[in-house]
Amino acid sequence: MARRRILIFFSDTGGGHRAAANALCDAFEHTFPNRFEIKLVDGFTECAPFPFNHIPDTYFPLTTYAPWLWGALFYTSNARASVPVSATFDDFILRSGCARVLRKYNPDLVISVHPLINRAPCNALKNINPDVPFVTVVTDLFDAHGLWFSAAADLVIVPTQGAYERGLRWKFPREKLRVIGQPISLKFALQAPAETMHELRARLKLRRDDFTVLLVGGGEGMGPLRSIARALNHSHLLIQLVIITGRNEKLKRQLEELSWQIPVSIQGFVTNMPDWMRASDLVITKAGPGTIMETLAAGKPMILSSYLRGQEEGNVHFVQEMGIGVLRPNAQKIVRQLRAWLDGAHGQLLEMQANAKRSARPNAAIEIAQEIARLVDNSV
Ligand code: UDP
Repeated sequence: MARRRILIFFSDTGGGHRAAANALCDAFEHTFPNRFEIKLVDGFTECAPFPFNHIPDTYFPLTTYAPWLWGALFYTSNARASVPVSATFDDFILRSGCARVLRKYNPDLVISVHPLINRAPCNALKNINPDVPFVTVVTDLFDAHGLWFSAAADLVIVPTQGAYERGLRWKFPREKLRVIGQPISLKFALQAPAETMHELRARLKLRRDDFTVLLVGGGEGMGPLRSIARALNHSHLLIQLVIITGRNEKLKRQLEELSWQIPVSIQGFVTNMPDWMRASDLVITKAGPGTIMETLAAGKPMILSSYLRGQEEGNVHFVQEMGIGVLRPNAQKIVRQLRAWLDGAHGQLLEMQANAKRSARPNAAIEIAQEIARLVDNSV
């Protein structure tokens, strides 16, 4: 039987949308070997005209150096009156480029994992071939932007009940909404922990017995990673520190030049995040939805060090409500919290660890692939 073609629209604004798209690709291939042929399309880079094709390049500087502007853009575009305006603008810059890509690949099904590349490809698809299903996979944990629900999608899959409620509030039809989970790397679900913690740490060149803190800032190495690293370095806490700087090469160089008083491992962009998370006792991260759900799947407690206004506030709410971590928005507060946990309140860490294991959905990508496959293949 000919392989069914799936197009997934995403964009490299941060690392989370690509990670979700990759997880879906792997999940389709794992669950239905050789049944689907999947193509990833960076919606802005491949479909938007100049200068909008450079929107992904503005994500890091905007969120890092002008977070207030990011927050303002999020809020002004996310009101009941403004979502239709934002959606129309989005449609205007992206629709014809999306139509070109759709004609070229002639897919049997289209998925969007990005709120801004959602309505335009859906409209383009329904103009070209209204029978081809369009699916949105939401990757915000709670306070999902209205644009996620602005397309006439045949199915919208959300990661949490909170995001489901948000969809209803945006008047998306209940019967087309499903709560499944966040698509994360299959390695969290499938890689049997055949290695002991000691073996894993030895493979990653870490000390075997030290309390291990993983510090990460999404795919771009965002947030105050440097000041947190410095505070931990001078904290006299008995820890070893792993820092993953993602694509932020400048930060990696700066950290390598520090004079380190605690054992440290500094990594750039890694492709084995599940290993690093499993090898750690605790994760410090900005409130990125991908990293939060991966940390849960690894069964680790977390400290959220920062969040993007608007976009990630709901994720903070989710983490605190589920009892899997706390928000400590500056380096001193992070050190104080760690000291409290290591000096006696260890029970709290264990409790959060248990909550994390309970709330994790490591198989979400596979479950999403199964749900989506039914739209195009009656035999699955
Ligand atoms: N990531 C990765 N390698 C790195 C740093 C990050 O694979 O060196 C992945 C991480 O595992 C997660 C994604 O990038 O899947 C980051 O997504 P998140 O939603 O946390 O934040 P974003 O970068 O989208 O703001």
